[in-house]
Amino acid sequence: MRSICVFCGSSMGQNPDYEKAAVELGTAIADRGINLVYGGSHLGLMGAVADAALAAGGEVFGIIPGFLASKELAHQGLTRLETVESMHDRKARMVELSDAFIALPGGYGTLEEFCEVLTWAQLGLHQKPQGLLNVAGYYNSLLQFFDQAVAEKLVRPIHRALVIEATEPEVLLDRLSAYQPQTVDKWIKQEEV
Ligand code: AMP
Repeated sequence: MRSICVFCGSSMGQNPDYEKAAVELGTAIADRGINLVYGGSHLGLMGAVADAALAAGGEVFGIIPGFLASKELAHQGLTRLETVESMHDRKARMVELSDAFIALPGGYGTLEEFCEVLTWAQLGLHQKPQGLLNVAGYYNSLLQFFDQAVAEKLVRPIHRALVIEATEPEVLLDRLSAYQPQTVDKWIKQEEV
C-alpha cells in the first residue's frame, strides 16, 4: 500500500480517545512509509490525523473543494493541497489516489464517504480494502446495523465482509495490508442472497 485515505470528523468529538486514535493512526501511517490522503481541512480529527502524519515525517495529500478552501478551512502545511470543484470530485479523486480507506469516528460526512467507497467496492468499481477504526465502541451500532441489513437480506454476507474492523490503528493497518479482494458481482446470482 502506497497511499491510504482517511475519512474522519471535522469535529474532535467529546471523547479524547478519538483524537488519540487520530494521532496514533496518522503516526502509524507515516511510520509505515505510506502517504496519507484526506479531506484537506485543519479542523477536528481531520487536522489531528494530518498533523500527526506530518510530524512523523509522512507525506500528506489534501483534497478540498473550492467552497471549503475559500472559507479558510484548508490546512496550510500539507505536502500537497489539491482544490477541486465539488464534493463529488473530491471523493472521486480520493478513490483514485488511494489504495485503501479508513474511517475514524466522524459524523454524516464520514459516514457518507465510507459508505460510498463501500458501495463502489460492492459494485466491483474498485477492489481496495476499507476499514472502520472502532474507537471506544463508536461504530458498534453501525456494525450492528450492517448485521441487521444482512439478516433482512438487504446486504449479502459477502458484501458485509467488505467492512474490515479493528479497535487499534496498527491492527487495522495490518488487516488492510493482508486483504485479498474477492470479485463478487452484486447483480449476479442474486438468489444466493
Ligand atoms: P463529518 O464527519 O460530518 O464531520 O464530515 C467529515 C468528512 O466530510 C471529512 O472526511 C471531509 O471529507 C468532509 N468534511 C465535512 N466538513 C468539512 C470541513 N469543514 N472541511 C473539510 N472537509 C469537510
